[in-house]
Amino acid sequence: MIGVLGCLAQQEGEGIFARAPWVSLVCGSASYRKLPELIAQLEAGNRRVTGLDTDTDETFETEVTRRDNPWRAYLTIIEGCDKACSYCVVPFTRGPERSRTSASILEEVRHLADVGYTEVQLLGQTVNSYTDPSARKMRFSELLVAVAEVPGIRRVRFTTSHPRDFGEDIVEAIESVPGICDHVHLPVQSGSTRVLRAMARTYSREEYLEKIAMMRAAKREISITTDLIVGFPGETEKDFEETLSLTDAVQYDGAFCFKYSPRPNTPSLKMEDAIPEEEKSRRLALLLERQREIQRARNERLVGQAFEVMVEGKSRRENQWSGHTSSNKVMNFASQREESLGDYVRVRVTGALPNSLVGERIGHGGAELGEAEVQIGK
Ligand code: SF4
Repeated sequence: MIGVLGCLAQQEGEGIFARAPWVSLVCGSASYRKLPELIAQLEAGNRRVTGLDTDTDETFETEVTRRDNPWRAYLTIIEGCDKACSYCVVPFTRGPERSRTSASILEEVRHLADVGYTEVQLLGQTVNSYTDPSARKMRFSELLVAVAEVPGIRRVRFTTSHPRDFGEDIVEAIESVPGICDHVHLPVQSGSTRVLRAMARTYSREEYLEKIAMMRAAKREISITTDLIVGFPGETEKDFEETLSLTDAVQYDGAFCFKYSPRPNTPSLKMEDAIPEEEKSRRLALLLERQREIQRARNERLVGQAFEVMVEGKSRRENQWSGHTSSNKVMNFASQREESLGDYVRVRVTGALPNSLVGERIGHGGAELGEAEVQIGK
């Protein structure tokens, strides 16, 4: 039984059967709740089954969510997107923004804590555009605090934020509640206001930098990561230089960098002045190199400091473990103990690489997993 699921399935629909005759199921994200029914139809002998509704009400009410990591749970709180970035298929494939009620989110978080999850990652294409549809009208920043206050929940992450809806209240929540992780992923896409306009990103370089200044002024240091596109149609050398200078100005802790590639049905598909492939590759290589140096320098500053790390893996090398800091940095560390995966430990940084830190365990991260009454932010 081979199925194609997600945004692309929603967009291509039954056309997938013609291109890949061995596929028997095509299902968009709004129809996941119907998967058991669709699979039953296949088992009953139907050869081709689709779930392509753009039905909005039942999106989040999937009874069973498979979660492979026993400590970190992902929770979608908002589906779809009301922005209209000119290169993006999401508004066509995932429909308008629909948020889940705060009560139902918190109920699920309490359940997750009961069964042992200590980290919750709130998800949405534009997670900070969350709008509580219930009478409670909980703001996104209030929701972050409420999730962090659920007994047993130690870390709350959220991704992806849109700069337009990123306000001071989110920074204040991070500052005042240690359980809200000190990491914000804030995609900028380009450092040139001219290109940002062509992308329909709804903010200028200066407005984006104001959001960064807001985070840099926080009492608690916040790690900032981003997404960047090079070679958008019409991007001049000067525009690209502005992207490089923006990365210098912001000093990102991480960046996902991409070459622009056209997507079906998007406005940018019809834009002129396509950038040749080799030029896109040249710009991408320069950007990656610049960002790598920034990350190396950012991580080197942390040598000697201690951080709490969730233990997530054991290396094949003896006494070597790995995990993430609250700021979402990968930490590879030495410990003479037999660590338990999912525990929180304190690690001192002894070395830095562009994409990870090296450290040694110096103690417990506080109350260990299993002590249900960990109160964060009180
Ligand atoms: S890039 Fe993000 S904000 Fe823009 S339309 Fe796509 S999902 Fe929405």
